[in-house]
Amino acid sequence: MDPQRQLLSARDIYVHFPVKPGGVNGRAKRVSAVNGVSFDICRGETLGLVGESGCGKTTLGRALLRLGHGVTSGSVTFDGQDVSALDAGGFRPFRKKMQMIFQDPFGSLNPRLTVGQMLGEVLAVHRIAKGDAALRRTLELLDLVGLNREYANRYPHEFSGGQRQRVGIARALAVGPEFIICDEPVSALDVSIQSQIINLLKDLQRDLGLTYLFIAHDLSVVEYISDRVAVMYLGKIVEIASSEELYRNPLHPYTRALLSAVPIPEPDAKRDRTLLKGDLPGPLNVPSGCGFHPRCPVARPECSRKEPGLKASGSDPLHQVSCLLYE
Ligand code: SF4
Repeated sequence: MDPQRQLLSARDIYVHFPVKPGGVNGRAKRVSAVNGVSFDICRGETLGLVGESGCGKTTLGRALLRLGHGVTSGSVTFDGQDVSALDAGGFRPFRKKMQMIFQDPFGSLNPRLTVGQMLGEVLAVHRIAKGDAALRRTLELLDLVGLNREYANRYPHEFSGGQRQRVGIARALAVGPEFIICDEPVSALDVSIQSQIINLLKDLQRDLGLTYLFIAHDLSVVEYISDRVAVMYLGKIVEIASSEELYRNPLHPYTRALLSAVPIPEPDAKRDRTLLKGDLPGPLNVPSGCGFHPRCPVARPECSRKEPGLKASGSDPLHQVSCLLYE
């Protein structure tokens, strides 16, 4: 990847957190939510991150922004600087450059503040604008996300779900970010509204030069917005490729199973659906060898003993897969 174009680089990221002692022996345990994840994102690019609930994708996104548990080990380089080595004060300037849009816009908005007050507060806290300048910027932000300027006087409960997500996007944009983690931003919305929000995010990316990490479990949404897609399973990336390549030529058995479950808009079309056995194992019970082996329809005996690494496979060096079938 061209270092000039690279905006964010994550290397060997682990996120662990303790769970309370309990059970028979009462010993404290450690949950490994993210296990050695590495990826790069170019300026102006959208990297989609997909996987089942509980695979660690939201934990990874929050850790990159130091929300919640943060990164346990590994490095995060943003715009050429290793931000994982910075203390809280040193990281503060990067807070403005790295923002997040949340899945539940209602839960992430203060119900006691009007939209104008909320955006004004963000602008004041980050010392961007106050008074008349803050009001002007608030109205510009409402224009940017396609909301009527009069909505500055409304409270979150007075908006529909789609409008609330537009407010959430305006709040993320208020500080002038370069990189936004979109954490399941349309999962809670009606299908008709989803496309409006996705198109808004695409327009904003084009107009403001934004870079996205787009987290979702809906593969058709991810295909539409992403330049590249990474598939996560049990805290690891098991496949990564350009969006076009991944959807045309999925290699990992898990990716194939996920794609076989995506509905296609042709009622008569037949497709071989791969049904996975069982549920995603909990992070306290990660299987040995390849973590996918208990559910893999093509597992071999060695899959429970040997752990595959993420490696380029086939003719496209940017298409990487973690599976013993390709080693
Ligand atoms: Fe399936 Fe084995 Fe490949 Fe894992 S390494 S995905 S178990 S074939």
